[in-house]
Amino acid sequence: MVNRHSPGFEVTARYHTLGGEYLAEIQFNNVEVPAENVVLREGGFKKLLTAFNTQRCLNPSISLGLAEGAFEEAIRFVRERSIRGQPIAAFQGIQWKLAEMYRDIEAGRSLLYRACLSANPFPDPHEAAIAKMFVNEMAIRVASESLQVHGGLGFTDDAPISRIYRGVRYGSLGGGATEALKDLVGRKLVDDFDPVDGFLSMGTF
Ligand SMILES: Cc1cc2nc3c(=O)[nH]c(=O)nc-3n(C[C@H](O)[C@H](O)[C@H](O)COP(=O)(O)OP(=O)(O)OC[C@H]3O[C@@H](n4cnc5c(N)ncnc54)[C@H](O)[C@@H]3O)c2cc1C
Repeated sequence: MVNRHSPGFEVTARYHTLGGEYLAEIQFNNVEVPAENVVLREGGFKKLLTAFNTQRCLNPSISLGLAEGAFEEAIRFVRERSIRGQPIAAFQGIQWKLAEMYRDIEAGRSLLYRACLSANPFPDPHEAAIAKMFVNEMAIRVASESLQVHGGLGFTDDAPISRIYRGVRYGSLGGGATEALKDLVGRKLVDDFDPVDGFLSMGTF
């Protein structure tokens, strides 16, 4: 842990993000750290990296919640908004969007819960990576579709869906970008998938 008033420690840039949070760029130039402030001892960094597997269940849990929120906003809006005397919820094109959103949320939930139930270690890194990739991208799609059914109102800052739409975008970047996770999963499949035992060889049943 570094005291932010330590000589050599500098915040070199601040960024306001699409999601509304602030991120900062920090630099360490010959910063002296007292021994008692060293949190990670020898070999500790490797252990810290395994914490990312846990984060790979937490991050998509947030995405799942945002997707559910986006869906709830969509349902509320399509029941209220009437065009030519009938609620847009009555249109088949809108119902199909709702059906697809709901389907994708529940598929994502199943993958995520499966990863969260895995153990030894918790969670299984392969399952967590698959769940994170799917749920992050699913939530972005669902938020976008929810915004679409809101029409132009969804594009305004007044509509809760516009806040969800901005907020959901972080998921596939933080905690391991989708591309990095695809590398991880792809490598494991090339190494471990046994064409004789087929899907049983991945131990996910
Ligand atoms: C909201 C938010 C919160 C974050 N929180 C944390 C945090 O708590 N702790 C932390 O350590 N980090 C955090 N990050 C940082 C995050 O992990 C990185 O932004 C992410 O790993 C991507 O790294 P980068 O931004 O340097 O992009 P770059 O490495 O510059 O990557 C640019 C693009 O290239 C892709 N790419 C990179 N390598 C490959 C490859 N081999 N093949 C194909 N594509 C590739 C990336 O996926 C990305 O799309 C956070 C980021 C965000 C946005």
